Amino acid sequence: MMPGVGRLPRGNRQILLSRGSLLPLCDVSLNVMILSSSAQTYTGGCHCGAVQFQVWIADFTAIDCNCSICQKKGFLHCIVEPDQFQLLQGQESLSTYTFNTGQARHLFCRHCGIHAFYHPRSHPGKIDVNLRCLDNVNLTDFLIKPFDGRNWEANIGTITESETRV
Ligand SMILES: [Zn+2]
Repeated sequence: MMPGVGRLPRGNRQILLSRGSLLPLCDVSLNVMILSSSAQTYTGGCHCGAVQFQVWIADFTAIDCNCSICQKKGFLHCIVEPDQFQLLQGQESLSTYTFNTGQARHLFCRHCGIHAFYHPRSHPGKIDVNLRCLDNVNLTDFLIKPFDGRNWEANIGTITESETRV
């Protein structure tokens, strides 16, 4: 299993430790959930402002994937349930890019080209929000875990709920 290395959250932000993770900050044992004390609602969107959303985040963990598209986009994945996400405006401005299996629907603003969120192949039915597209976000508040998406099939089990959550 890939070790959960990455930037550690600052301050008292609570995180969910997954099995095999390195332990940040503290002396808790493996596989222990610490309840978040600071769930937060963020607004976010594309660059031109046509696409805007809000998202409720309780788990301050994100994934930095090195696959062909994520690396080029610089996408930092924060995967949430549909009821944690609300598109405020811009449905008509969204275009979709697909490739390979076609399962992931990579949405982007057709005006400015920014990929602010999409429907991921890894977590069907969920929404994958680009941390970099949140307003006034401090990336250092999040535990950012690397994912070897270049070897997607071999590693996908490490970030799906069948083995551990992210
Ligand atoms: Zn835009």
